[in-house]
Amino acid sequence: MLEFITEAVVLDRVDSGELDSRVYLYTQDLGKISAKVKSVRKITSKLAGHLQPLNKIMARIIDKNGPQLIDALTIKNNPKTTASLKALFFIKELAVEGQPDSELWHFLENENDLNSKTILSFLGFDPAFAKCHYCQKAGPENFYPADYAFYCGPCSPTGSYRV
Ligand SMILES: [Zn+2]
Repeated sequence: MLEFITEAVVLDRVDSGELDSRVYLYTQDLGKISAKVKSVRKITSKLAGHLQPLNKIMARIIDKNGPQLIDALTIKNNPKTTASLKALFFIKELAVEGQPDSELWHFLENENDLNSKTILSFLGFDPAFAKCHYCQKAGPENFYPADYAFYCGPCSPTGSYRV
């Protein structure tokens, strides 16, 4: 069975089924991945505390019908702010799975002040040069992940995020 150990930053964890979860990680070696976590929601699970968004962890992952995280240990707790959590959300939504990016990784693991503008630039969506996708106005203030585009206030579809 394929097993690997990598440093990772936790992007998100969502419940699936009664006890299981799916964790979204940005890893040093594989870029963004999502992995199953078995029984993480049991009250005794030691993993849950390590799988908080923004934690830098050492992750042990096996490939068993897709990636499954079997162990995690916190290396560093990063301060959680609304801005940093939104930045993680953009990575989760927009980064290509399984494509490592060492620059983004180094930024993520060292930066204590994550913000959406910088993260969007890393992902190839630089707000500084963006125009509203609809009316072409410069300096659009929102980003809409579903169509990978910036919009000015009045043109923004529901579900846009301020950047
Ligand atoms: Zn517009």
